Amino acid sequence: PLRFNPGKIGTAARMEEIRYSINEIFASVQGEGLLAGTPAVFVRLQGCPLHCPWCDTKYSWKEDGSGTAKIPLSEVLVKDSRPRSADATLDELVNLILERWPRIPLVVITGGEPAEQPIRPLTERLIAAGKRVSLETSGFLEIDVAPETFVTVSPKITVPGGRVLDSALERADEVKMVIGDESDLAALDAITDKIPESTPISLQPLSMEESAASLCFRTAVERGGRYRVSVQLHKVLRVR
Ligand code: SF4
Repeated sequence: PLRFNPGKIGTAARMEEIRYSINEIFASVQGEGLLAGTPAVFVRLQGCPLHCPWCDTKYSWKEDGSGTAKIPLSEVLVKDSRPRSADATLDELVNLILERWPRIPLVVITGGEPAEQPIRPLTERLIAAGKRVSLETSGFLEIDVAPETFVTVSPKITVPGGRVLDSALERADEVKMVIGDESDLAALDAITDKIPESTPISLQPLSMEESAASLCFRTAVERGGRYRVSVQLHKVLRVR
């Protein structure tokens, strides 16, 4: 697929060239963050360079050409947690979503790290078709999406090579931080002055562990204001 490069995108000819590398597409209910509870189509793009130890989508890590199995687009609709991907053009991807799930209001573009791929045209097309669109990114790369896109930045700053761009924190509609212990909270506090004051900060317990959940609850109650707790509903309820 074309790698993120806004300067190379924009003409009709370029649009036709855009291809996405997709790991899976499925309908469920958004279980995390401010939009929790909303029925959504999840588009999981393939590839992420960060390799967080706690990642629950490790099968989305591998890039094309490094051993990832290639599958037809229709097979990404079948859940199968293996490194694999299908390629699709912008038209193929948008048409698939609109035709298969016409009544679902929200499309969540996730990964992997979706900002590695040219997501602006995808967000523009889906919004023009009447969908609400949400992006889930680590903020590791510049975020280039339609202005109406709801952006969740989930900083991965405690892993080797992890970083979050100031521009990503400024653009975020929500910052969602995975909290395992006090060190994660300290890492969050170190970037908080880069997050606009009106932006909600969601604390998400690492792997829904009891001690992490207790720390998140305690911190949100103590700090109040824009702090909240993000519960992974799908894990609590054991549904996908
Ligand atoms: Fe997994 Fe997200 Fe970390 Fe990438 S940034 S390794 S997808 S948790």
